[in-house]
Amino acid sequence: MTPIQDAARDLEGAEPAEILRWAYATYPRVGIVASFQVSSSVLIDIASRLVPAVDVVTLDTGRLPQETFEIADELRRRYRFRLHVGLPEPAEVRELTAAHGLNPFYQSVELRHACCDIRKSRPLDRVLESFDAWTTGLRRDQGGTRTQTPVVAEDPARPGVVKLAPLANWSRQQVWDYVKEHHIPTHPLYAQGYASIGCAPCTRAIEPSEDERAGRWWWEQESVKECGLHWSPEGTLVHR
Ligand code: SF4
Repeated sequence: MTPIQDAARDLEGAEPAEILRWAYATYPRVGIVASFQVSSSVLIDIASRLVPAVDVVTLDTGRLPQETFEIADELRRRYRFRLHVGLPEPAEVRELTAAHGLNPFYQSVELRHACCDIRKSRPLDRVLESFDAWTTGLRRDQGGTRTQTPVVAEDPARPGVVKLAPLANWSRQQVWDYVKEHHIPTHPLYAQGYASIGCAPCTRAIEPSEDERAGRWWWEQESVKECGLHWSPEGTLVHR
């Protein structure tokens, strides 16, 4: 077994704070990757209680709702984290939009993946070159490809980088309970019926009866709805 596999076994049932404590003790550069939904805000809160300076990584895809920038600023004022922003390469966006228009993601799954690749995956690759480990807010109870999310694993897309999912074993309710208990400000779109929030053209509010992620890329089949940042149950990236 590798040291990371040992850690994954030891931390399998650990609380998020214990997983993050291990990460900060093991790696000099840990990035909390945040979309400023509740899961990443919980991780920022927990990390802020463990270390004096938290590094938060986010992606400005160029298509985010204004409310995301507002909550990001509010959280930054509260936690005073260092912010690292990944941006798409303008030339890549120019090439995609020249060939397929400004909203290519509605035309086909392939073009949606191409947009996510240019606006999310590649910018994340570039920012994470400065980090040894990064966290996601993935939870196994979100279903689909997330049910097998490892708590700790080598990032299959980035050799030498470790990917952590400290909330893997938490439920949605536990996340919201933590938010309420610690009075963490939340993304304004939750109050409008959104349950999962990404880019504006690819996110909608959901009905109470719908699945948490039903409002993401709702025009696609359930089986392909991942953004390319995350691993499959086999430990490989889903769309790269
Ligand atoms: Fe493009 Fe939509 Fe993916 Fe955002 S979520 S990068 S707009 S396809």
